[in-house]
Amino acid sequence: MEIRIMKEIMEGNDKLAGENRKFFEDNNITAVNIMASPGAGKTSLIMNIIGILKDQKKISVIEGDIASSIDAEKIEKEGITALQINTGGGCHLDANVIKLSVEDLALQKDTLLFIENVGNLICPSAFDLGETLKMVIASVPEGHDKPFKYISMFEAADVIVLSKKDLLPYIDFDKEAFYKGIRAVNQKAPVFEISSKTGEGVKELVDWLVEG
Ligand code: MG
Ligand code: ZN
Repeated sequence: MEIRIMKEIMEGNDKLAGENRKFFEDNNITAVNIMASPGAGKTSLIMNIIGILKDQKKISVIEGDIASSIDAEKIEKEGITALQINTGGGCHLDANVIKLSVEDLALQKDTLLFIENVGNLICPSAFDLGETLKMVIASVPEGHDKPFKYISMFEAADVIVLSKKDLLPYIDFDKEAFYKGIRAVNQKAPVFEISSKTGEGVKELVDWLVEG
């Protein structure tokens, strides 16, 4: 597998993000920037969505990780084009690397593009990629306090996913507090409760992504 090595450029991110946004709009591409901490289930959710949608929708995936190509290899086993970016220690993706990756992928019109950001709840929200939607995933074992602690992430979200729902019976997770934390900073984003293990809730999220 070929891996794109990211070189960070500090200036001009917003300009490049604007160019990406225009490209996505002109080609009716829905680009979903998925942000979450490591282990929240980003790749598992992408795999679940692929399982539901691959016969009816063109899907491509950009995988951002500090190192390795494990995630992109998993996606390619599903018959989906995936491109792996290694940031070499960098803790977020930027608009430049997305622009280059999109050129490499030669995306077709009407594609649903998942951009799996580097696992990190802090700085990825500060870098506009030109994406259509920002999706933030928080998993049950991380605890219900995440929206209170990582405000900018939850504030920026267009859609929020509570993952690993199947673990709710085993963990002290206060769902009411979780929603309270979200709504204190973000009144609009819909919240989907899902389990990639059982598949529960994923269909509802997919319907929203496709129709919304
Ligand atoms: Mg992953
Ligand atoms: Zn960063």
